[in-house]
Amino acid sequence: MNNLDKLKEEVNNCTKCNLCKTRTNAVFGEGNINAEIMCIGEGPGYYEDQQGRPFVGKSGQLLDKILGVCGFTRKDHVFIGNIVKCRPPDNRNPLPEERESCLPYLYKQIETIDPKIIILLGATALKGLIDPNAKITKVRGQWLEWNNRLVMPTFHPSALLRNEKLKHPAWEDFKNVVKKYRELVNKEHYSEHC
Ligand code: SF4
Repeated sequence: MNNLDKLKEEVNNCTKCNLCKTRTNAVFGEGNINAEIMCIGEGPGYYEDQQGRPFVGKSGQLLDKILGVCGFTRKDHVFIGNIVKCRPPDNRNPLPEERESCLPYLYKQIETIDPKIIILLGATALKGLIDPNAKITKVRGQWLEWNNRLVMPTFHPSALLRNEKLKHPAWEDFKNVVKKYRELVNKEHYSEHC
């Protein structure tokens, strides 16, 4: 059993915050455990909670589509996780104390996977990892640094589903990620559209 498997077992049995009482499954995250890119969202929704997998609903399908256009897959290039591993009831935002309880798991995931690029999907991910007062509308599209890693904050796919106008700026953010991936990881990286 590798370190991530051990951590996953810990998460599956975790009772550190009240979200454990209402979850069906904890959602540890999935993807390549040696990925150079990590995508971090907010927390599991209904389908994620049911299946124990991250980003499997409509937002997840959109995320996979965007990643696909960039030439990235969960299997080979990306590990996908969340700020909280258990679904907040009725998909409300995770409370600050829930974020605080759960963040050490994310820190360990980042340390173990050791990605060069972190993509923060939406306000909760930005506030959880970088700064509780940061605003996604202000910082999206700008490279930030966190513990010697490059961080690209962008909109959550669910926001893109609600508001078509956000799709263009989000696509610009992902194009920047592809550019950086070519600089840092693989200059031959192929992507059909960027
Ligand atoms: S959300 Fe995180 S801290 Fe809370 S019970 Fe689930 S795994 Fe534990």
